[in-house]
Amino acid sequence: MFSQPTAYIQHCPACFSELVRKDGDAKHYCPNTDTCPAQIKAKFEHFISRKAMNIDGLGGETIELLITEGLISEISDLYYLKKQDLLLLERMAEKSTDNLLLGLEKSKQVPFERLLFGLGIRYVGETVAKVLCKRFKTIDAIINTDIETLVEVDEIGGKIAESVVLYFSKQENIDLINILRNSGLQFVSAIEDTTKSENLKGMKIVVSGVFEQYSRAELKKMIEEHGGKNISSISKNTTFVLAGNNMGPSKKQKAEDLKVEIITEEEFLVKIS
Ligand SMILES: [Zn+2]
Repeated sequence: MFSQPTAYIQHCPACFSELVRKDGDAKHYCPNTDTCPAQIKAKFEHFISRKAMNIDGLGGETIELLITEGLISEISDLYYLKKQDLLLLERMAEKSTDNLLLGLEKSKQVPFERLLFGLGIRYVGETVAKVLCKRFKTIDAIINTDIETLVEVDEIGGKIAESVVLYFSKQENIDLINILRNSGLQFVSAIEDTTKSENLKGMKIVVSGVFEQYSRAELKKMIEEHGGKNISSISKNTTFVLAGNNMGPSKKQKAEDLKVEIITEEEFLVKIS
C-alpha cells in the first residue's frame, strides 16, 4: 500500500463555494451561509432538533421537501406556513399537516435558552446558551452587549464572545429575531436567578461523605447558589473538599497527596454566610 497525502476538498460539495478555514479551527467550512442548500438544511435541522425547538411532526425529510418546494428558506418562514399550501404537497396528508402546524404552535412556548441555542450561533452550544440567558435575561440585552462584558461571564471565552457580537451585528439576524418575536416565540428567560452571593466564585468544590445538617444535594445546590462549581473528582485544580462523615479513604488520601484543603460542614457554612 502506498501512503497517500491526505486530500482536502477545497470547494463545498453543495454550492461549490470555496471553503475557508479560520485560524485555530480544525475544520474547513462553507462561508456561503445564505444560499448554500446544505447549510440551509443544516440550519433547519439544528433548529428543530430535540435539544433546541424539538418540533413534533417536523423531521428532516419534511424540511427538505419544504425547502425544495420553496416554502421555507429562513427559520422564521416556518411560522408562516399555511395549511392550504402544505396540503398541496405530495406526502402531506391532512393529519400530518395538522400535526406539523400544532407542533409549530407549541414550539412558541419553548424556553428562551433552547430557542437561543436553536438559532445556531457559532460556538453557542446548549450550555453557553443557558449561561447567556441566565446572565442577560432578554434577547435585547444580548443584542446590546459587547465583547468586554461577555468575556467577564463565566464560561464565555473570547472566541464565543466575538461570535455572539458578530452574529447580532448583522441586520439580517436582527430582522430574523424580530420576525420570530412577532410570531410569539420566547425571547425572555424564565430561568430564575438563584445566585445568593459570590463567596465561592471561581471555586471548584468536591462534596464527599455524609453530613449532619444538610443533605449532599442541598450542599451542592448551596455551592451553586454562591457561585461555586461542583466537581466529582479531586484533582490539583480542586479548591477544597467539603467532607462529611465517612469520606472515602482513597478520596481522603488523594486530597492529602494533592494538598487540597479539606473543610467541614461548619466551616463551609461560615464561608457562605
Ligand atoms: Zn456550501
